[in-house]
Amino acid sequence: MNSRRLIMTTRWTLAFSALAGIVVIYRLWLHVNPTTVALTLLLFILILAAEWGLRYAVVISVAATALYNFFFLPPVGTFTISDPQNWLALFTFLSTAIIASRLSERARDEACDARARQRELEILLHLSQELLQSETIATLLSSVPSTVASVTAAKSSILYLLEGNKLYQAGVDLVSDIELPHLRQLAKTLPNVRQEDNEMQIPIRSGVKPRGLLLLRGVTLSPETLGAVGSLISISLDRAQAFESIAKDQAAKETERLRSLMIDSITHELRTPLTSIKGAATTLLSGEIQKEEQHELLTIIDEESDRLNRLVSEAVEMAQLDAQQVQMHFSPVKIRDLIDEALSTCSWIEDHHSLQVNIPDGLQIHADPAVFQKVLSNLLENAAKYSAPGTLITISAEIKNECVAISIADQGVGIDPSEQGLIFERFYRARSLVSGTSGTGMGLAISRAITEAHGGKITVVSQPGHGSVFTIYLPSPAPISVK
Ligand code: ADP
Repeated sequence: MNSRRLIMTTRWTLAFSALAGIVVIYRLWLHVNPTTVALTLLLFILILAAEWGLRYAVVISVAATALYNFFFLPPVGTFTISDPQNWLALFTFLSTAIIASRLSERARDEACDARARQRELEILLHLSQELLQSETIATLLSSVPSTVASVTAAKSSILYLLEGNKLYQAGVDLVSDIELPHLRQLAKTLPNVRQEDNEMQIPIRSGVKPRGLLLLRGVTLSPETLGAVGSLISISLDRAQAFESIAKDQAAKETERLRSLMIDSITHELRTPLTSIKGAATTLLSGEIQKEEQHELLTIIDEESDRLNRLVSEAVEMAQLDAQQVQMHFSPVKIRDLIDEALSTCSWIEDHHSLQVNIPDGLQIHADPAVFQKVLSNLLENAAKYSAPGTLITISAEIKNECVAISIADQGVGIDPSEQGLIFERFYRARSLVSGTSGTGMGLAISRAITEAHGGKITVVSQPGHGSVFTIYLPSPAPISVK
């Protein structure tokens, strides 16, 4: 016996037993007048109509009328009725029971409809929230079938797209590639939502142009809601496509902007040392100079060539970082080791400044040691360059808000608040710099690019005349290890 028949048999048994129960109780134990009995039976029939539907209510009404007549209307014990008024009462009872049952069933159906509509609205709302989250076509397409299946509680959800002849599916009962030609044909010709056996077929269109097909198995929703699901998928595809093309345009514009900025800056920055070299060389070639002056000019040529060399290599490094051409090999490294390594590459700092290092021994970050060390060397060199000899430089590291924070603090000239945001731009050097402090203005730009490539950020807090603190924040490798 299938479950539906079992439920029906149980309900009929319960309904007749309850009817018999009411009759027995009133007949044998509670001796009340016939009106009370009629009202109790009516109440029982209304409950049946509201809970199980009209069919139960009508059959039980007829049975209740017969029992009421037999057991409660005089002459009791027969189906005949002596008083004509009782005929009227019996007829009124039957018709009231049936009409009220009908009304009760209608209210029940309307409540069911309202619940179904609410559920379908919730499905659409939920679906729109889920689908409109993805901003790339690839993530959207891979998530559509599972999202639709979970939101609609379908056993399987299959999305077929005409473009690329692609199939995306989720659930149990899936389609094989052999069916692709059939799906293609269906996607091109299906005019509206259609139900075939246990499968709902929903066309997906962009305007009037067929775009694909959604198949849902093991779910019953109204054709209107399924049509709206198809439209939602189409809208989210349009939206993701628009996002992708805007992002591509922006990326292309940004690359172009950076390229021309770079060319402008390099041309400008290269001109200064080149002019000095050219001037010195021309004077030397004129031959009208003293021996000491000769040495001075050669020193200028030497220093400016170095500067030129550094500029070119830093500009190349920056361009490679921009183009994400720098291959990084990340591994867990101890900050202490990185600092020691960085200090060894600029050992002159220790001769001119006192250093204080506060780094927990086992504190690690996830980094490419060779690349990341450049950031530390650059910050250390700057701390030394822009502060008076003999002053203290403090290097510290700690865990802060689930990040590792590495700080390099000096007691130097500091940076004007209006320039603190600019010093990370390429070629920017503070206006207040006394001439003679060598530099290219590229160090911090490179440091920022490297830090960002490590998933972190770099900040500065500075007070002119008192010093600066540069801090690098990096995501802490899990688990954070501090010995
Ligand atoms: P460079 O040091 O070659 O000029 P950077 O990009 O490393 O280039 O720094 C940019 C500018 O930021 C510097 O020219 C300087 O004006 C300022 N700056 C950087 N670090 C410090 C610091 N520790 N103290 C004061 N000013 C600094």
